[in-house]
Amino acid sequence: MELILLGPPGAGKGTQSKLLETRYGVAQISTGDMLRAEVKAGTPIGLEAKSIMDAGKLVSDDILIRMIGERIKRPDCAKGFILDGFPRTVPQAEALDKLLHEQAVDLDAVIELKVDEAILVERISGRYSCAKCGEGYHDKFKQPKTPGVCDACGGTEFIRRPDDKAETVHARLEAYNAQTAPILPYYRARGRLFTVDGMAEMDEVEAQIEAVLRGLGVAAA
Ligand code: AMP
Repeated sequence: MELILLGPPGAGKGTQSKLLETRYGVAQISTGDMLRAEVKAGTPIGLEAKSIMDAGKLVSDDILIRMIGERIKRPDCAKGFILDGFPRTVPQAEALDKLLHEQAVDLDAVIELKVDEAILVERISGRYSCAKCGEGYHDKFKQPKTPGVCDACGGTEFIRRPDDKAETVHARLEAYNAQTAPILPYYRARGRLFTVDGMAEMDEVEAQIEAVLRGLGVAAA
């Protein structure tokens, strides 16, 4: 299965792509996570990307296209992948078409998670995660059961993404509207675009995505 989850920051792409990874046995690829790993490791890509990410802007197409080109050739992608955060511009979508063509694989679907902008700001600006295992939490929607202790691993240190600050969230939404939303008609014209209600409960969103995939004849693992 080759799937793209598309939607503004905070739409739930990360959450849903992780659920689908387990259910369909394919690799989940988040370009945001890949870039954050480069920043953490202090690589040349990380050094170049950090200030751009902190400002809520998009890192250059060249870097992202190269990164994805290498990533989808790895063995864990043999059964397919779910892209979360890529493509984010029309040139990235065009480059992806070329890469998939070279590997003789077909994109099954592009699923857009639609969420109102006011809700996105609230969702993003309250989120944080366990520094040890990455389990996600939210000031309003999901606190650890024991305050200050991660439900999943017992860790006691939590982190917030520097670009989840309210000021930066607006820049990220602007980048989405100006540079990423134009991808929607690109895929719509190819008959690949499906839209689901990203404001529904998490389970309901997952069920909607699975219904789209079932309709396309894609079976769970
Ligand atoms: P995300 O975790 O998907 O919200 O991505 C965090 C940040 O990484 C974005 O705000 C961008 O600065 C950068 N980024 C991630 N994916 C891409 C991409 N496909 N193209 C350009 N920049 C990206």
